[in-house]
Amino acid sequence: MDVICTCCGEPWDIYHVLHEEPQAFDRAGALIKACPCCRGRRRDDLNRRTRSQLDALAEAARLFGDDLDGFAAFLEDMSLTY
Ligand SMILES: [Zn+2]
Repeated sequence: MDVICTCCGEPWDIYHVLHEEPQAFDRAGALIKACPCCRGRRRDDLNRRTRSQLDALAEAARLFGDDLDGFAAFLEDMSLTY
């Protein structure tokens, strides 16, 4: 299952985030604020709809607290990742 970096929208395998390169992610529980792709720099090329979706997902991630698995399942249920 994948989770999404809410800064740039890049999907990441949950195992990678938790076990392979955990130091490369700026996380607050289920919320990924920066990943190796963006390093926390907001992309200027995202359209407003995508930016607003990522902002909404960041809010949802906060509701999941430390439950990264639960957030990944939520994203999958919403067909936002595969
Ligand atoms: Zn990112």
